[in-house]
Amino acid sequence: MFDKSTWIRLPRNVLVGHGVLEQTAEAIEELHLRGQPLIVTSPTPYEIAGDRIMSQFASWDQEPAVVVVEEASFDAIERVIDRAREVDPGFLIGLGGGKAIDIAKMASDDVGRGFVSVPTVASHDGIVSNRGSVPEEGTRHSVAAEPPLAVVADTEILANAPWELTTAGCADIISNYTAVMDWRLAYRLKNAPYSQYAAALSEMTAEMLVGNADSIRPGLEESSWIVVKALVSSGVAMSIAGSSRPASGAEHLFSHQLDRIAPGRASHGHQVGVGSIMTAYLHSGENGLWRDIRDALANIDAPTTAAELNLDEDEVIEALTTAHEIRDRYTILGDGIDETAAREVAKQTGVI
Ligand SMILES: [Zn+2]
Repeated sequence: MFDKSTWIRLPRNVLVGHGVLEQTAEAIEELHLRGQPLIVTSPTPYEIAGDRIMSQFASWDQEPAVVVVEEASFDAIERVIDRAREVDPGFLIGLGGGKAIDIAKMASDDVGRGFVSVPTVASHDGIVSNRGSVPEEGTRHSVAAEPPLAVVADTEILANAPWELTTAGCADIISNYTAVMDWRLAYRLKNAPYSQYAAALSEMTAEMLVGNADSIRPGLEESSWIVVKALVSSGVAMSIAGSSRPASGAEHLFSHQLDRIAPGRASHGHQVGVGSIMTAYLHSGENGLWRDIRDALANIDAPTTAAELNLDEDEVIEALTTAHEIRDRYTILGDGIDETAAREVAKQTGVI
Protein backbone atom coordinates (compact mmCIF):
# COMPACT_ATOMS: atom_id res chain seq x y z
CA MET A 1 0.00 0.00 0.00
CA PHE A 2 1.22 3.47 -0.84
CA ASP A 3 1.33 5.55 2.31
CA LYS A 4 3.91 8.22 1.68
CA SER A 5 3.05 11.87 2.00
CA THR A 6 4.89 15.14 1.97
CA TRP A 7 4.19 18.77 2.89
CA ILE A 8 6.39 21.29 1.14
CA ARG A 9 6.46 24.79 2.56
CA LEU A 10 7.98 27.40 0.32
CA PRO A 11 8.17 31.18 0.32
CA ARG A 12 5.39 32.52 -1.91
CA ASN A 13 6.81 35.86 -3.02
CA VAL A 14 10.48 35.95 -3.87
CA LEU A 15 11.71 39.33 -5.09
CA VAL A 16 15.32 39.52 -6.20
CA GLY A 17 17.05 42.33 -8.03
CA HIS A 18 17.82 46.00 -8.36
CA GLY A 19 15.68 48.23 -6.16
CA VAL A 20 13.20 45.55 -5.04
CA LEU A 21 13.46 46.86 -1.47
CA GLU A 22 10.93 49.53 -2.55
CA GLN A 23 8.42 46.75 -3.23
CA THR A 24 8.56 45.24 0.25
CA ALA A 25 5.14 46.55 1.36
CA GLU A 26 3.64 45.64 -1.99
CA ALA A 27 4.91 42.05 -1.67
CA ILE A 28 3.40 41.92 1.81
CA GLU A 29 0.03 43.36 0.76
CA GLU A 30 -0.11 40.85 -2.04
CA LEU A 31 0.04 38.11 0.61
CA HIS A 32 -2.96 39.69 2.38
CA LEU A 33 -0.94 40.13 5.55
CA ARG A 34 -2.59 42.63 7.90
CA GLY A 35 -1.93 44.30 11.21
CA GLN A 36 1.09 46.05 12.60
CA PRO A 37 4.45 44.99 11.17
CA LEU A 38 7.23 44.19 13.63
CA ILE A 39 10.68 44.81 12.15
CA VAL A 40 13.48 42.74 13.69
CA THR A 41 16.83 44.14 12.70
CA SER A 42 20.36 44.98 13.85
CA PRO A 43 22.03 48.40 13.94
CA THR A 44 23.78 48.55 10.54
CA PRO A 45 20.97 47.10 8.39
CA TYR A 46 18.50 49.37 10.14
CA GLU A 47 20.62 52.34 9.26
CA ILE A 48 20.93 51.21 5.63
CA ALA A 49 17.35 50.24 4.91
CA GLY A 50 15.16 51.00 7.95
CA ASP A 51 13.72 54.32 6.72
CA ARG A 52 13.12 53.02 3.23
CA ILE A 53 11.01 50.20 4.63
CA MET A 54 9.23 52.29 7.28
CA SER A 55 8.09 54.86 4.71
CA GLN A 56 6.34 52.19 2.65
CA PHE A 57 3.91 51.60 5.51
CA ALA A 58 2.96 55.29 5.84
CA SER A 59 -0.56 54.59 4.56
CA TRP A 60 -1.11 51.69 6.95
CA ASP A 61 -3.14 52.11 10.15
CA GLN A 62 -0.14 51.53 12.38
CA GLU A 63 3.48 52.26 11.64
CA PRO A 64 5.85 49.32 12.11
CA ALA A 65 7.23 48.53 15.56
CA VAL A 66 10.98 47.99 15.57
CA VAL A 67 13.24 45.85 17.72
CA VAL A 68 16.99 46.17 17.24
CA VAL A 69 19.09 43.19 18.31
CA GLU A 70 22.82 43.45 18.85
CA GLU A 71 23.78 39.78 18.94
CA ALA A 72 22.39 36.34 18.12
CA SER A 73 21.51 34.64 21.38
CA PHE A 74 18.59 33.02 23.14
CA ASP A 75 18.30 36.22 25.21
CA ALA A 76 17.86 38.23 22.03
CA ILE A 77 15.17 35.82 20.81
CA GLU A 78 13.42 36.10 24.18
CA ARG A 79 13.53 39.87 23.90
CA VAL A 80 12.00 39.77 20.43
CA ILE A 81 9.32 37.32 21.58
CA ASP A 82 8.46 39.59 24.53
CA ARG A 83 8.21 42.57 22.21
CA ALA A 84 6.04 40.56 19.82
CA ARG A 85 3.66 39.59 22.63
CA GLU A 86 3.42 43.25 23.60
CA VAL A 87 2.84 44.53 20.06
CA ASP A 88 0.78 41.59 18.80
CA PRO A 89 2.00 42.20 15.23
CA GLY A 90 0.32 40.92 12.09
CA PHE A 91 3.67 39.63 10.89
CA LEU A 92 7.41 40.02 11.42
CA ILE A 93 10.02 41.39 9.03
CA GLY A 94 13.60 40.18 9.49
CA LEU A 95 15.85 42.93 8.09
CA GLY A 96 19.58 42.31 8.07
CA GLY A 97 22.12 39.51 7.97
CA GLY A 98 21.85 35.98 9.23
CA LYS A 99 21.50 37.13 12.83
CA ALA A 100 18.43 39.39 12.48
CA ILE A 101 16.77 37.01 10.05
CA ASP A 102 17.32 33.91 12.16
CA ILE A 103 15.98 35.66 15.25
CA ALA A 104 12.92 36.99 13.41
CA LYS A 105 12.33 33.54 11.96
CA MET A 106 12.46 31.77 15.31
CA ALA A 107 10.44 34.43 17.13
CA SER A 108 7.73 34.39 14.44
CA ASP A 109 7.50 30.63 14.87
CA ASP A 110 7.06 31.05 18.60
CA VAL A 111 4.34 33.72 18.43
CA GLY A 112 2.56 32.11 15.50
CA ARG A 113 2.91 34.96 13.01
CA GLY A 114 4.20 34.99 9.46
CA PHE A 115 7.65 36.22 8.64
CA VAL A 116 9.19 38.14 5.75
CA SER A 117 12.91 37.94 5.04
CA VAL A 118 14.74 41.07 3.86
CA PRO A 119 18.44 40.17 3.69
CA THR A 120 21.03 42.94 3.46
CA VAL A 121 23.91 40.47 3.07
CA ALA A 122 24.07 37.23 1.08
CA SER A 123 26.18 35.38 3.63
CA HIS A 124 24.32 32.08 4.08
CA ASP A 125 21.28 30.12 2.99
CA GLY A 126 19.37 30.82 6.22
CA ILE A 127 17.83 33.86 4.50
CA VAL A 128 15.35 31.54 2.78
CA SER A 129 15.44 28.24 4.62
CA ASN A 130 13.14 26.59 7.10
CA ARG A 131 15.95 26.33 9.64
CA GLY A 132 17.18 28.78 12.21
CA SER A 133 20.37 28.64 14.21
CA VAL A 134 21.51 30.34 17.40
CA PRO A 135 24.60 29.93 19.52
CA GLU A 136 23.98 27.80 22.57
CA GLU A 137 26.56 26.92 25.19
CA GLY A 138 29.43 27.64 22.87
CA THR A 139 28.02 25.78 19.89
CA ARG A 140 25.35 26.53 17.35
CA HIS A 141 21.97 25.05 17.68
CA SER A 142 19.91 24.51 14.56
CA VAL A 143 16.15 24.39 14.98
CA ALA A 144 13.22 23.88 12.64
CA ALA A 145 11.27 27.04 11.89
CA GLU A 146 8.83 28.28 9.27
CA PRO A 147 10.32 29.39 5.99
CA PRO A 148 9.64 33.04 5.16
CA LEU A 149 6.35 33.93 3.42
CA ALA A 150 8.30 36.34 1.26
CA VAL A 151 11.92 37.12 0.51
CA VAL A 152 12.96 40.58 -0.66
CA ALA A 153 16.62 40.60 -1.72
CA ASP A 154 17.76 43.90 -3.19
CA THR A 155 20.94 43.31 -5.18
CA GLU A 156 21.98 46.96 -4.91
CA ILE A 157 22.12 46.64 -1.11
CA LEU A 158 23.72 43.19 -1.22
CA ALA A 159 26.45 44.41 -3.60
CA ASN A 160 27.46 47.06 -1.08
CA ALA A 161 27.84 44.57 1.77
CA PRO A 162 31.38 43.60 2.83
CA TRP A 163 32.80 41.31 0.17
CA GLU A 164 33.79 38.54 2.59
CA LEU A 165 30.14 38.12 3.52
CA THR A 166 29.28 37.43 -0.11
CA THR A 167 32.15 34.95 -0.51
CA ALA A 168 30.87 33.24 2.65
CA GLY A 169 27.47 32.86 0.98
CA CYS A 170 29.18 31.40 -2.11
CA ALA A 171 31.15 28.92 -0.01
CA ASP A 172 27.97 27.86 1.78
CA ILE A 173 26.48 27.00 -1.62
CA ILE A 174 29.61 25.25 -2.90
CA SER A 175 29.42 23.02 0.18
CA ASN A 176 26.13 21.63 -1.18
CA TYR A 177 28.29 19.23 -3.21
CA THR A 178 29.50 17.38 -0.14
CA ALA A 179 26.20 17.80 1.73
CA VAL A 180 24.50 15.87 -1.07
CA MET A 181 27.25 13.20 -1.10
CA ASP A 182 26.71 12.70 2.62
CA TRP A 183 22.96 12.59 2.17
CA ARG A 184 23.21 9.90 -0.51
CA LEU A 185 25.57 7.91 1.66
CA ALA A 186 23.15 8.10 4.59
CA TYR A 187 20.33 7.04 2.30
CA ARG A 188 22.22 4.02 0.97
CA LEU A 189 23.68 2.96 4.27
CA LYS A 190 21.08 4.00 6.83
CA ASN A 191 17.95 4.38 4.74
CA ALA A 192 17.76 8.07 5.71
CA PRO A 193 14.78 9.85 4.10
CA TYR A 194 15.97 11.07 0.71
CA SER A 195 14.55 13.24 -2.05
CA GLN A 196 16.02 12.97 -5.50
CA TYR A 197 14.48 16.29 -6.55
CA ALA A 198 15.95 18.14 -3.59
CA ALA A 199 19.37 16.51 -4.05
CA ALA A 200 19.43 17.33 -7.78
CA LEU A 201 18.36 20.94 -7.17
CA SER A 202 20.96 21.42 -4.48
CA GLU A 203 23.73 19.98 -6.62
CA MET A 204 22.69 21.99 -9.65
CA THR A 205 22.74 25.15 -7.54
CA ALA A 206 26.34 24.50 -6.54
CA GLU A 207 27.28 23.70 -10.14
CA MET A 208 25.72 26.89 -11.48
CA LEU A 209 27.52 28.97 -8.91
CA VAL A 210 30.85 27.37 -9.69
CA GLY A 211 30.12 27.77 -13.41
CA ASN A 212 29.60 31.48 -12.87
CA ALA A 213 32.50 31.93 -10.46
CA ASP A 214 34.38 34.14 -12.93
CA SER A 215 31.66 36.77 -12.81
CA ILE A 216 31.53 36.83 -9.01
CA ARG A 217 33.59 39.88 -8.17
CA PRO A 218 33.49 42.58 -5.47
CA GLY A 219 31.07 45.44 -5.90
CA LEU A 220 29.28 43.93 -8.90
CA GLU A 221 25.55 43.85 -8.52
CA GLU A 222 25.44 40.95 -10.96
CA SER A 223 27.48 38.88 -8.49
CA SER A 224 24.88 39.45 -5.78
CA TRP A 225 22.22 38.43 -8.27
CA ILE A 226 23.95 35.10 -8.92
CA VAL A 227 24.68 34.42 -5.26
CA VAL A 228 21.30 35.33 -3.86
CA LYS A 229 19.43 33.32 -6.46
CA ALA A 230 21.60 30.34 -5.54
CA LEU A 231 20.82 30.89 -1.85
CA VAL A 232 17.10 30.96 -2.65
CA SER A 233 17.38 27.79 -4.68
CA SER A 234 19.34 26.09 -1.90
CA GLY A 235 16.60 27.10 0.55
CA VAL A 236 13.95 25.69 -1.78
CA ALA A 237 15.86 22.39 -1.89
CA MET A 238 15.74 22.26 1.92
CA SER A 239 12.02 23.01 1.86
CA ILE A 240 11.40 20.21 -0.63
CA ALA A 241 13.44 17.80 1.49
CA GLY A 242 11.79 18.99 4.69
CA SER A 243 15.26 19.01 6.25
CA SER A 244 18.59 20.77 5.93
CA ARG A 245 20.12 17.62 4.41
CA PRO A 246 20.51 19.00 0.84
CA ALA A 247 22.73 21.82 2.13
CA SER A 248 24.26 20.47 5.32
CA GLY A 249 26.51 17.47 5.73
CA ALA A 250 29.77 16.71 7.52
CA GLU A 251 31.27 20.04 6.42
CA HIS A 252 28.54 21.74 8.46
CA LEU A 253 29.20 19.50 11.47
CA PHE A 254 32.86 20.50 11.20
CA SER A 255 31.90 24.17 11.15
CA HIS A 256 29.52 23.82 14.11
CA GLN A 257 32.32 22.15 16.04
CA LEU A 258 34.70 25.01 15.17
CA ASP A 259 32.11 27.43 16.57
CA ARG A 260 32.50 25.57 19.84
CA ILE A 261 36.28 25.06 19.80
CA ALA A 262 37.37 28.37 18.30
CA PRO A 263 34.38 30.71 18.34
CA GLY A 264 34.34 33.87 16.27
CA ARG A 265 37.44 33.16 14.19
CA ALA A 266 35.77 32.82 10.81
CA SER A 267 32.32 32.97 9.29
CA HIS A 268 29.97 30.05 8.88
CA GLY A 269 30.27 29.98 5.08
CA HIS A 270 34.06 30.10 5.07
CA GLN A 271 34.29 27.30 7.64
CA VAL A 272 31.94 25.00 5.74
CA GLY A 273 33.87 25.71 2.54
CA VAL A 274 37.13 24.45 4.02
CA GLY A 275 35.27 21.55 5.63
CA SER A 276 33.86 20.68 2.24
CA ILE A 277 37.35 20.41 0.68
CA MET A 278 38.28 17.79 3.27
CA THR A 279 35.04 15.80 3.27
CA ALA A 280 35.10 15.69 -0.54
CA TYR A 281 38.55 14.12 -0.25
CA LEU A 282 37.19 11.56 2.21
CA HIS A 283 34.36 10.71 -0.18
CA SER A 284 36.32 10.23 -3.35
CA GLY A 285 40.03 10.34 -2.59
CA GLU A 286 43.01 11.91 -4.26
CA ASN A 287 41.54 12.41 -7.72
CA GLY A 288 38.05 13.31 -6.63
CA LEU A 289 36.03 16.48 -6.53
CA TRP A 290 37.99 18.11 -3.72
CA ARG A 291 40.31 19.96 -6.12
CA ASP A 292 37.36 21.48 -7.97
CA ILE A 293 35.86 22.61 -4.69
CA ARG A 294 39.14 24.09 -3.51
CA ASP A 295 39.75 25.85 -6.85
CA ALA A 296 36.24 27.25 -6.91
CA LEU A 297 36.66 28.64 -3.40
CA ALA A 298 40.06 30.11 -4.25
CA ASN A 299 38.63 31.64 -7.42
CA ILE A 300 36.11 33.70 -5.45
CA ASP A 301 38.62 34.67 -2.69
CA ALA A 302 37.14 32.36 -0.06
CA PRO A 303 39.53 30.66 2.38
CA THR A 304 40.92 27.22 1.56
CA THR A 305 43.32 26.75 4.49
CA ALA A 306 43.29 26.67 8.28
CA ALA A 307 45.49 29.77 8.39
CA GLU A 308 43.03 31.73 6.27
CA LEU A 309 40.34 30.79 8.81
CA ASN A 310 42.60 32.06 11.62
CA LEU A 311 42.86 28.54 12.99
CA ASP A 312 45.82 26.42 13.96
CA GLU A 313 46.35 22.79 12.94
CA ASP A 314 45.21 21.30 16.22
CA GLU A 315 41.93 23.20 16.17
CA VAL A 316 41.16 21.85 12.72
CA ILE A 317 42.03 18.29 13.76
CA GLU A 318 39.99 18.50 16.93
CA ALA A 319 36.96 19.80 15.03
CA LEU A 320 37.32 17.10 12.39
CA THR A 321 37.69 14.23 14.85
CA THR A 322 34.78 15.32 17.06
CA ALA A 323 32.34 16.65 14.42
CA HIS A 324 30.35 13.38 14.32
CA GLU A 325 29.36 13.89 17.97
CA ILE A 326 27.37 17.03 17.24
CA ARG A 327 24.16 15.46 16.13
CA ASP A 328 22.67 12.24 14.97
CA ARG A 329 23.31 12.84 11.29
CA TYR A 330 25.12 10.11 9.39
CA THR A 331 27.89 11.43 7.13
CA ILE A 332 31.22 10.34 5.65
CA LEU A 333 32.69 10.88 9.13
CA GLY A 334 30.77 7.80 10.27
CA ASP A 335 31.37 7.11 13.94
CA GLY A 336 34.35 9.46 13.93
CA ILE A 337 37.58 9.88 12.00
CA ASP A 338 40.83 8.66 13.50
CA GLU A 339 43.27 11.42 14.42
CA THR A 340 46.08 10.26 12.14
CA ALA A 341 43.63 9.92 9.28
CA ALA A 342 42.29 13.41 10.02
CA ARG A 343 45.82 14.86 9.87
CA GLU A 344 46.38 13.03 6.61
CA VAL A 345 43.30 14.45 4.90
CA ALA A 346 44.01 17.97 6.17
CA LYS A 347 47.60 17.72 4.88
CA GLN A 348 46.73 16.10 1.55
CA THR A 349 44.22 18.83 0.78
CA GLY A 350 46.57 21.60 1.86
CA VAL A 351 44.24 22.76 4.62
CA ILE A 352 47.08 22.46 7.15
ZN1 LIG B 1 25.34 26.66 5.80
